[in-house]
Amino acid sequence: MIDEKVAFVMDITPRLNLSSLQLWLLALIFSVALGTSANLVAADKHAVAIVIHGGAGTIRKELMSPDLEAEYRAVLTKAIVTGHKVLTSGGSSRDAIIAAITLMEDSPLFNAGHGAVFNHEGNIELDASIMEGRTLNAGAVAALTRIKSPIRLANSVLDNSPHVMLVGAGAEVFAQQQGFDLVSNDYFKTDRRRLQLERIIAQEQAVAMLPASSDLLLIKYQFDEKKLGTVGAVAIDQRGDIAAGTSTGGMTNKRFGRVGDAPIIGAGTYADNESCGISATGHGEYFIRAVVAHDICARMAYKGISLQQAQDEVVQDKLVEMGGSGGVVGIDKDANVAFSFNSLGMYRASIDKRGDLVVKIFKQN
Ligand code: ASP
Repeated sequence: MIDEKVAFVMDITPRLNLSSLQLWLLALIFSVALGTSANLVAADKHAVAIVIHGGAGTIRKELMSPDLEAEYRAVLTKAIVTGHKVLTSGGSSRDAIIAAITLMEDSPLFNAGHGAVFNHEGNIELDASIMEGRTLNAGAVAALTRIKSPIRLANSVLDNSPHVMLVGAGAEVFAQQQGFDLVSNDYFKTDRRRLQLERIIAQEQAVAMLPASSDLLLIKYQFDEKKLGTVGAVAIDQRGDIAAGTSTGGMTNKRFGRVGDAPIIGAGTYADNESCGISATGHGEYFIRAVVAHDICARMAYKGISLQQAQDEVVQDKLVEMGGSGGVVGIDKDANVAFSFNSLGMYRASIDKRGDLVVKIFKQN
């Protein structure tokens, strides 16, 4: 670099007729000026951070084998490191969260893509959404049966469609027009999830024999057994742009074209560069009614409170009062990372602005 600067100065000096002292002064000024502008570019780069979740629910250490726990931690680590690499190499927050989410969609451990939960009819229907905090543009898809990576299709809706949300058969026509390969619904199915559906239907039939006053028991029973595993991610890139995305199979035994919060902008996903980005997981009906993701960003903007406080107000107070179980992950405009959940556990990982990696499943670790 210095050599280039000196060469440049040597090149112009014959025309300027300078003494050697003047020449070196000139070289010095150039070096300082160019060095300063390089530092400015470096200083201009926003701190990057990324956070992901793999679902919240009744996750107990004593009910999980050490091998399974290790598998979850390995996939969470791989996903967060992959997303973070996109950010450190100058990629966008959108690309970073897509990289992290597709890895989890492809893993049978999570309730998204391959390994998603079954609906009542024994099929898989997938929902996803993505939002960009700089433009407030968003893309969402719901009730997909043949798209391998719903988050990628949501991203394509954001980029290439005048609409925000496409569902069912229409979304799949759009996918084909966009060059997506369609897969068979069997691609998503795993034995583990089929057994979950069978168990839940058996429980439902058993509880249906009980007196009507047991309705509350039924709701609790169903929710605990749904073994959530929705995936989501939020990131902030070197330009300070926040993006958030969520992808899910919904809830086991869902019926009648049910769509949860994950593809609803403002409920399961929200991103605004002025406040924060949020991805949620939990009992979707409550998250839709509480407009969870947007409410957290709005509380930050209107009340001037921290991301952690805004998340806790919504997840630990508002949702708990309503009876909604689950959690959220998020990043604010200063690249602070925060989680909040009111369930026993939440699969989660982050790499914060200092580069510190955290991977946790249970309340404390
Ligand atoms: N929120 C998702 C839904 O209700 C489920 C989950 O997060 O596990 O569809």
